Amino acid sequence: MARKFFVGGNWKCNGTTEEVKKIVSTLNEGQVPPPDVVEVVVSPPFVFLPLVKNLLRPDFHVAAQNCWVKKGGAFTGEVSAEMLVNLGIPWVILGHSERRLILNETNEFVGEKVAYALSKGLKVIACVGETLEQRESGTTVEVVAAQTKAIAERVSNWADVVLAYEPVWAIGTGKVATPAQAQEVHFELRKWFHANISPEVAATIRIIYGGSVNGANSKELAAQPDVDGFLVGGASLKPEFIDIIKSAE
Ligand code: PGA
Repeated sequence: MARKFFVGGNWKCNGTTEEVKKIVSTLNEGQVPPPDVVEVVVSPPFVFLPLVKNLLRPDFHVAAQNCWVKKGGAFTGEVSAEMLVNLGIPWVILGHSERRLILNETNEFVGEKVAYALSKGLKVIACVGETLEQRESGTTVEVVAAQTKAIAERVSNWADVVLAYEPVWAIGTGKVATPAQAQEVHFELRKWFHANISPEVAATIRIIYGGSVNGANSKELAAQPDVDGFLVGGASLKPEFIDIIKSAE
C-alpha cells in the first residue's frame, strides 16, 4: 500500500509574532504538490499555535511540540493533550531527542505520552534516534528498537502515528545522514514492525527522517524506498521548506 509522503516542520523554540507571520505567509504562497501527494504539518511553539492555525492555508496542518503525559491538573508549566484537542490542534511531536536528552525523558515516559495523546484523539509524530556514541559503538538498531518498543508496549492504534528517525548526531549539525544510512535504519525499523507488531503496520506506517534535511539533500533522501518524508528543524523556518515539500514528487 502506498504511504503518503509526510513533511513536518519543527520550529522548536524560535520566533516572534512578526517572524511567525512571515513564515506562514511564505508557506501560504508556496506552490506544492496536492494534499493527496504530501501531508504537511508545521509545529510552532505552543504560544503561537492559535495564530498559526488561524493564518495557515487549509491544506497544511499544525502540531504541538510536546504535551503532558496524562490529564491536566496541578502540573505547572505543562500543556495537556485535552487542551490541544480543545484548540483543534490535530498533531503532537513526542519524544524529540532534545526532550529525551536535555529534559531526561525516558523511553517509558515517551511511550506513556504517546499512548495518552492517541487516546485523546491526537495524531503523533514519535521520534527515535541514536547518539553519535551509540552509532559508533554499533548499537543504533538496538537503541531505536528499544525506543520504539517502549511505545509499542502501550499503543495499538498505529494508524495515527508517524515515526521520525532522527539520529542525534545529525540534528542541527549540518551533518545529514547519507541516503544509505537513513535507508538502512528505516528498513530495520520496518523489519522490527513486521516481526513485533504486524506485516500490515510494517507496510503502512510512515517512517520519516530528520536531521539536517535541507532543500539540497531532500530529493535524494526521499528517493529511498523506506523514507516516507521528513521532520525538518532549521530549514523549516526558511523558504527552502517549500523545496523540501516538493521532494515528495
Ligand atoms: P534540524 O532538526 O533539521 O535542524 O537538524 C531536525 C529536528 O530536530 O527535528
